[in-house]
Parts: sequence; C-alpha cells; structure tokens
Amino acid sequence: MSQAELPKKGTPKSELFAKMDEARGTDTNWKAARLFGFVYRTDDDVHEVGKEAYAKFITENGLSPFAFPSLLKFETDVVSMTAKMLHGGEDAVGNLTSGGSESLLMAVKAAREWSRATKPEIKEPEMVVVNTVHPGWDKAAHYLGLKIVHVPVAADFRSDVAAMRAACTANTVMLVCSAPTYPHGVVDRIDELGKLAQEKNLWLHVDACLGGFVLPFAEKLGYDIPLWDFRVPGVTSISADVHKYGYAPKGASTILYRNDTYRLYQYFAYAEWAGGVYGTPTMLGARPGGAYAGAWAVMNYLGEEGYLRLVRKMMDATKKFQAAVKAIPELKIIGDPHASIFAIGSDVINIYALGDAMKKRNWHMEGQQFPPALHVTMSPGHADVIDEVIKDLNEAMVEARGAGEAALSESAAMYGMMSSLPDRSMAKELALQYLNGIYK
Ligand SMILES: *Cc1c(COP(=O)(O)O)cnc(C)c1O
Repeated sequence: MSQAELPKKGTPKSELFAKMDEARGTDTNWKAARLFGFVYRTDDDVHEVGKEAYAKFITENGLSPFAFPSLLKFETDVVSMTAKMLHGGEDAVGNLTSGGSESLLMAVKAAREWSRATKPEIKEPEMVVVNTVHPGWDKAAHYLGLKIVHVPVAADFRSDVAAMRAACTANTVMLVCSAPTYPHGVVDRIDELGKLAQEKNLWLHVDACLGGFVLPFAEKLGYDIPLWDFRVPGVTSISADVHKYGYAPKGASTILYRNDTYRLYQYFAYAEWAGGVYGTPTMLGARPGGAYAGAWAVMNYLGEEGYLRLVRKMMDATKKFQAAVKAIPELKIIGDPHASIFAIGSDVINIYALGDAMKKRNWHMEGQQFPPALHVTMSPGHADVIDEVIKDLNEAMVEARGAGEAALSESAAMYGMMSSLPDRSMAKELALQYLNGIYK
C-alpha cells in the first residue's frame, strides 16, 4: 500500500465520501448484528439520537465549563443519573471520560494520590487485582508506576477472596474486581472484597465498564445478581461505560466515587503557567462535547423504561443462545455468567475451529485464552437474528468436529500458538511487533 501524503489540493466532498464508503466495504456488518463485541447494537432510532446529539455538539470543547455550560450540565447529569442507578448516596460524585480505559487510569491515579496523602510510609504502592480484570488495569499500572499483582480466580471463575487477602502486602493500596468480568461475564465476590477493603483500609474499585448499564436493570427484572454497587460498604469507586450498554456513541464512560474526598485525588491543576491557571478533571485536555451530548441524549431518550425493555430483550436472547450451546455435548459455557456476556469452551474440540466455522458464516466471535474459548458479548440487536445464529452454530459444529489442527485458519492457528506459548514474554513481544507492523 502506498503511504498517504497530504494532497496538494483539496478533494470534493462527494468524492471523499464515496471513498469513505468504499473503505467501509470490508468492515464487519455491525448493523446486521454479525459482531459479538466492539459494537453494542440496538434499535436504529437509539443510534440516530446519539448520532444527531453528537453532531450537534461536535465542535464544542468540554475543557471549558465556563465557555460551554451546556457540556457541564450534560456531564453532571450523566454522572448523577449513573451514580443513582448504582445506588450512590447523596455524596456520590464522578466525571465523564473518553472511555473505560481512561476511567480506569483515573481510578488508579486517584488511589495512588490517596495513598500518598494518607499512607506516606508506602513508597512503592501495589494494586491487587482479580486476574480476569481488563488489561486496561495493567496499562494503568504500567503508565502510573504501580506494581500490579494478579490473583487467580476460584474454580467458578469468580474472585478467590482468600487468595486476594493472601496477596496483600504492607504496600497494597488498592483492590480491583469486576461486575461482570469481560472474559466470562461473572460478577466477582464484591461483598466479601468490600469487607476485606474495610478491614485493611484499602481502596476498592469495581470495574462495571461492561455491567454498569445492564446489571441494575437485570436486577429489577428479577435476575439473580449478587450485590456489587455502592450498596456494598467498602466500595470506593466504580467505572461504568455509557458507550457500551448505555448505547451512547463512542467516547463516553463514567468514573464514580463514593464521595468527593476520593475524587479530589483524581484532579490535576497547574497554577504557574504563562497561559493561565490550568486545571482538568480527567486525563484529556480538550474534551469532546459530542460524546457528552450523545451520552446525555441517549440516556434521556431511553429512560429506565427503555433500558429495561432492551435488557429484557437481550437477556431472553442470551438465555436462548446459552441453551443452544448447552444442548451441544462438546460445548460448555465457562462458569455461570450473570448477565449478557459469556464464553463458549470445549474439552473435546478445538474451539478456535468453531470460531473459524462461524466466521465463514459471517459471525464474528473473539478468541480468548486460559482456557481457550470464544467470547460472546450479546446486544439487544442479536435478539432479531438469534435463530439464525443458533442454526449456524449447529452447522458450524459439524464442520468443527471434522476439522483437524491443519484446517485452522492462519489467524486461529496463530492465536492458538500465541496462547499456548509457555514463555509469556514471547507472546507479549509478538503482540508488540504485530502492532508495530500494522500501524505502518
Ligand atoms: C471495555 C472494558 C474496559 C475498557 O473500556 P474502553 O472503553 O474499551 O477503554 C474496561 N473494563 C472492562 C470490564 C471492559 O469491558
């Protein structure tokens, strides 16, 4: 491929847009709900509201709440609505960020500053995490210079609280768990972790980037969801992404704190700059007004009634899909997932071959490791195609049963090889080289 250069002359809009549509031709068709990740497909009208609201405020900059009080209102409203959904009390506060990863970074930053202020004897702070937490936590530890300790899950793929306790040292400042975990969709033992955090005076973060906009409604619909939110004493902060199951356009997550004493540690200000006194609540400088307008609009458009309707529709489809998986003797669902995220594994067939066979039928499920599995993030949009998914799953199984290792696609074989490398530093190096290669 030739390397792009800024064209000498501008390109007419019609030509540009034609090229963009052409570029999109090879993208996965999320509109037809062919993806089980990346896009949270729901009704067209909801996506349209987000898009229009985003476009309305696409130029405005949330860096200045003084220039744009509108964005300040959208942000505080979204934070307040989300905090109340998660049973934050009158004192709960938070901010909007550009996504889950930024929310996690902010939580680690706040916990680090909190420990510096309240536990100055700790020079090398450590965070103890359940090993199923999102890699964004490893990234945050990497960026912010904390040691991260991964604690294996119990046999049910939920946190092993005794092991978490055993992993705490005199340098531990923070515990992290998920509601639910990305890999297996299970809610960790958050009530017990809350007790541990209180006993040891540790910061406890619950990562509900995925579950924040599903679990509250699933609970209201009568699903059996363990307590996980601010109702659990000892929970310090929670992240919940509006751009996932909140159905807002990309670029919106919330980071919430039990009270503003904790949040203050998140903030940054520099008063000596020639350009003026400068302060930001989160990591970004310029902040995308469109994302905040989109989040605000979609939440208000749907309301509790809308979310309940979508969660019911999605959970019905999830149960149907899971029943179909369980009906296939070689397949199993890993753990006992609490909501709309789950992983399909097998002790018999090569599960990546099933992923290949599904891909041939134009369904896209990500492979995962430890144990090998296919990942399913359900969306309400899948309810409309669930019978087709199940029919194709059964056909794909016929193919996967017959497939030897040699039949694996290059990407599945590569993935299988990477995940079975005993030397994990080699797998990491390969991943870095791969990134380096594709972003030429
Ligand atoms: C998606 C996700 C994140 C990261 O969020 P991004 O929006 O992708 O940055 C963090 N934690 C969990 C549990 C997630 O599912």
